[in-house]
Amino acid sequence: MNAMPETVLLDGKAFAARIRARVAAHVAGLADRGLVPGLAVVLVGEDPASQVYIRNKGIQTRDAGMNSLEHKLPDTTSQAELLALIDRLNADPAVHGILVQLPLPGHMDADAVINAIDPAKDVDGFHILSAGRLATGQRAMVPCTPLGCLMLLRDRLGDLTGLNAVVIGRSNIVGKPMAHLLLAESCTVTIAHSRTRDIADICRRADIVVAAVGRPRLVKGDWIKPGATVIDVGINRVEQDGKALLVGDVDFANAIKAAGAITPVPGGVGPMTIACLLANTLTACCRAHGLPEPEGLTA
Ligand code: NAD
Repeated sequence: MNAMPETVLLDGKAFAARIRARVAAHVAGLADRGLVPGLAVVLVGEDPASQVYIRNKGIQTRDAGMNSLEHKLPDTTSQAELLALIDRLNADPAVHGILVQLPLPGHMDADAVINAIDPAKDVDGFHILSAGRLATGQRAMVPCTPLGCLMLLRDRLGDLTGLNAVVIGRSNIVGKPMAHLLLAESCTVTIAHSRTRDIADICRRADIVVAAVGRPRLVKGDWIKPGATVIDVGINRVEQDGKALLVGDVDFANAIKAAGAITPVPGGVGPMTIACLLANTLTACCRAHGLPEPEGLTA
């Protein structure tokens, strides 16, 4: 009797470290031309989770040999003041990427702010032009989390052509761009969401499941086709046996019994996001200076 092959754990932490090393090596090469990629990060307000993200982004940006320019504004900042800062960053040749940390305070129109960023510096890939380019198959800045998921999938599966992929979640920052990326890889893509009927049945036909929902352990083990590749984007804080725990959108303990490969939470998709932000900043710098782009760091 043939034993089931062991499930592969997709180690995003190790993969992200390799991406950061490749970015750093390329950045070191740019230094010979007197070029240092610069990432400007703008935080409005005191949101504690955002402060942690920003600190980590700053550390990893500097570790890769790039400049990190942090702008922390009080939550009393007006939208006009924020737009004026974005204008200055758009015009600054030392800045190759601009990231406005979301969420913004309630008095601001996040779409208007994001769309004020020069699309060439839109390293988060949230600008309407970036989204439109991705949706129409043009060269785009790709949102970091879906880009990280795609890199993990390519690394595991190689050519994705013809595979059945289900993306659960249709947000503008994860679900929709993920679906467009998989479509561009010639997968047959289904987008499932909160109003989808019989998600379990749809998942059972999928070679690739990407869960980006924000509901702890929504995806059950018996939804997974044997051998499927499961990418769990969800980050959910739950309490279990009196302890605080981070879990994904997939019931990992049971899904691992069927999956061919699966990302853990934490340590799967999470670390890929900042690594891809660094990759996007490097790509933006190369494009701004008409230099060849580093291979394997874009979609
Ligand atoms: P979101 O709330 O914007 O979107 C959630 C989507 O899930 C919606 O499209 C909704 O239709 C769908 N949904 C909700 N309930 C559902 C249900 N019962 N069945 C099927 N679909 C359902 O969330 P988001 O910003 O896309 O993030 C999703 C998750 O990914 C969150 O847990 C978030 O923390 C995590 N996330 C992780 C990273 C990272 O790892 N770096 C980055 C971004 C988001």
